[in-house]
Amino acid sequence: MTDDRVIAREDLDALFDALHRCGYTVVGPTVRDSTIRLAEIAGTRDLPAGVTDEQEAGRYRLAQREDAALFGFNLGPDSLKRWQLPPDRTVWRARRKPDGELTDFSTDARSGPAGMPDRIAYIGARACELHARAILERVLLGGNHPDPELRERADALIVIAVQCGEAGPTCFCASMGAGPKVTSGYDILLTELLDADHHVFIAATGSVRGEELLAEVPTRRAGSEELAAARATPARAAEQIQRKLDADWVKELLYAHLEHPEWESVAQRCLTCGNCTMVCPTCFCTSVEDVTDLTGEQVERRQQWDSCFAVDHSYMHGGGPARQSARSRYRQWMTHKLASWDDQFGTSGCVGCGRCITWCPVGIDITEEAQAIGAVTHGPARATPAKED
Ligand code: SF4
Ligand code: SF4
Repeated sequence: MTDDRVIAREDLDALFDALHRCGYTVVGPTVRDSTIRLAEIAGTRDLPAGVTDEQEAGRYRLAQREDAALFGFNLGPDSLKRWQLPPDRTVWRARRKPDGELTDFSTDARSGPAGMPDRIAYIGARACELHARAILERVLLGGNHPDPELRERADALIVIAVQCGEAGPTCFCASMGAGPKVTSGYDILLTELLDADHHVFIAATGSVRGEELLAEVPTRRAGSEELAAARATPARAAEQIQRKLDADWVKELLYAHLEHPEWESVAQRCLTCGNCTMVCPTCFCTSVEDVTDLTGEQVERRQQWDSCFAVDHSYMHGGGPARQSARSRYRQWMTHKLASWDDQFGTSGCVGCGRCITWCPVGIDITEEAQAIGAVTHGPARATPAKED
């Protein structure tokens, strides 16, 4: 939209001020419990200045950088999913009238226990997160009966994206066509440039809302050297990506090898803890429970994140859980993400953010599992669904 502008480091708080004046709660990365979490932040003083993250399969640590970069890390365990689909929300509630009938139905999830703000501006979104946002929106809102509350949340969201200048060791966004370069899906896009005597943000706008916001921030026109440095930033990250997944073939590969011995191998390591599904920005399994107060005067239906790794998630009345073994639950998760998601929603369910690799307590790596299934095949491939166990 507008020409790229330059925001000096000391002027970046003006962007927060503009968002607050427009009534937004600003959510962004901040250090909590030795981890970069997403939380409400007041200004740049809350960002993880001079902090980086070290990630590997089953390992996450924060470390000090040698500079004062505000976005010099990759990803923490949180994602925009927390606001698109709150982890615990009230879907509806009702009270009993004196005549005994239920009344006062409310479908306003904002009055639920989560107490989450519904009008947020998210600062710090990376390319993979923008793709994950779009995928989850298609799942949650693309059907015939989209939840109006979630629709409202999605429409109110403002996104201030940030280009990645470094890739983490567990990233494989390039394989999934989801990064590392941000190309769309933002209101404002920031590229952080930092050297010994120069700390600025190159700002591009992607919407009218973004233009209006940027107009309230002191900026100057970007010079040609700054524009070249901004262009080089995601290219540098792309060169650092180590993990790969063959997205063109993985769907057919998984469907053809539903009885591959690797499923048993991964089941020997998998704790079925569900961490991978909790940190995944696109996993959307939920369960519902109806809760009454002790007097029986009020009832509410709560929706909470759930996981396909939970044995009860596949429970069918009268038949017990459909997926009783770790083998079948891991296979369900991986084939859904990388194969049947495409049949359901016309897109992969994975953006290659690498969170499931980092946050798996035993370091199970979805890219290695795909390679293991592709590299070693035992016996004839099966094209028909396997019997559940
Ligand atoms: S793959 Fe890892 S994170 Fe996922 S359920 Fe198994 S042990 Fe937990
Ligand atoms: S499956 Fe893993 S790498 Fe893919 S989007 Fe989910 S958490 Fe990220």
